Amino acid sequence: MTHLNQETIALHTGQTVDPITKSRAVPLYQTTSYVFDDTEHAASLFKLQASGYLYSRNANPTNAVFEERLAALEDGVAGFAVSSGQAAILIAILTLAQAGEEIVATNALYGGTYTLFSKTLPRFGVTVRFVEGTNLQEVEAAINEKTRAVFTETIGNPSLQIADIEALATIAHRHDVPLVVDNTFATPYLSKPLTFGADIVVHSTTKFIGGHGTSLGGAIIDGGTFEWKAPRFKTFIEPNELIGDRSFVEAAGEKAFITKARFELGHDLGATLSPFNAWLFIQGLESLAVRVRQHVVNAQAVAEFLVQHDQVEWVNYPTLPENNQLHLVEKYLPKGAGSIFSFGIKGGLEAAKAFINNVELLSHVANVGDSKSLVIHPASTSHSRLTAEQQLASGVTPGLIRLSIGLEDIEDIKNDLTQALQKATNAVGVLK
Ligand SMILES: *Cc1c(COP(=O)(O)O)cnc(C)c1O
Repeated sequence: MTHLNQETIALHTGQTVDPITKSRAVPLYQTTSYVFDDTEHAASLFKLQASGYLYSRNANPTNAVFEERLAALEDGVAGFAVSSGQAAILIAILTLAQAGEEIVATNALYGGTYTLFSKTLPRFGVTVRFVEGTNLQEVEAAINEKTRAVFTETIGNPSLQIADIEALATIAHRHDVPLVVDNTFATPYLSKPLTFGADIVVHSTTKFIGGHGTSLGGAIIDGGTFEWKAPRFKTFIEPNELIGDRSFVEAAGEKAFITKARFELGHDLGATLSPFNAWLFIQGLESLAVRVRQHVVNAQAVAEFLVQHDQVEWVNYPTLPENNQLHLVEKYLPKGAGSIFSFGIKGGLEAAKAFINNVELLSHVANVGDSKSLVIHPASTSHSRLTAEQQLASGVTPGLIRLSIGLEDIEDIKNDLTQALQKATNAVGVLK
């Protein structure tokens, strides 16, 4: 069968049933190394002249199934699974940019990405120019001859700003620069950035893909369509002695980017995904569609419930009628906008703290995309390394509460929110 649909891909792609054991489930290859046929075979593997496994820091058969399946779900040509979402972003960016070069990033980002870009990358000589993602002129004006990537998130965190991926890709491509999109909050079930012109997708698979809050992991997916050209991408097209004096484009064609990422930084930095976590993420992918569908139904119900609640000041969920980005939601997230969103409670910071201290069913944790409903106060946690100004730029106000709505019974979630809102209001004495 040549064409498979999403939910079938999630269950089958990437696995060839092992001819000896006939194992139906994908086997867990918990191994570091692979037996070479002879010295010539070993040498050709080391120079990327033969395909096959060498050492699990570079590639592993269980990881390979996960990589191929996730790449297929994203409409990409290949993937590289790494130890965390942070590692995926770091490796993707450093495969494109080196010291003295720059990237342009929209400013409504995951807190860890924001500090990676604002603090750590500059220590290695890579400058990140932050721009307001909704201001396309500002995005274009920030690109110069040193720029090596434009970076954004499908659904910005925690402001829930929706990226206009097609417009950002057009701008990036006008300057021969790839667009990199963090698709963690949407998952390929809700949106596929590569089909709108993005070139590279990154994921924290820790979230919805794992789905059960058990495992850290990340992935980079190569769209395979970007044309690597001088002068920006010499390291892709010049001969490299590591791979037998060929360039990455010659050696790997449309998979040049992901091959370079795996072969250079994957090999040198060692932020590899453990095969056991890859195996768990394969289980996660199998049920991704049904889980995300229910996450969206529950989140929509909670958002509507909060909108009409007296003790709630505002609710920011992309599909609510008052959202000014509805046209982008329709285009990029037609099946829903995920289950992570925010609201403001009457009574500001103190009421927000009291609310979080009084939830019983919801868990107060630094995570999102779990099957269990989660809550956090970003200003004092995930975004606390940002200055007050940077917090506001990424949409984090002092009274903002972020929810990640899980798969519990919707009435139970609402009951917990009701009692916690009541206790918060009692605590700060705000009148209705
Ligand atoms: C969690 C997250 C990350 C970082 O991923 P880790 O797996 O925690 O390293 C990056 N981007 C987004 C949008 C995230 O939610």
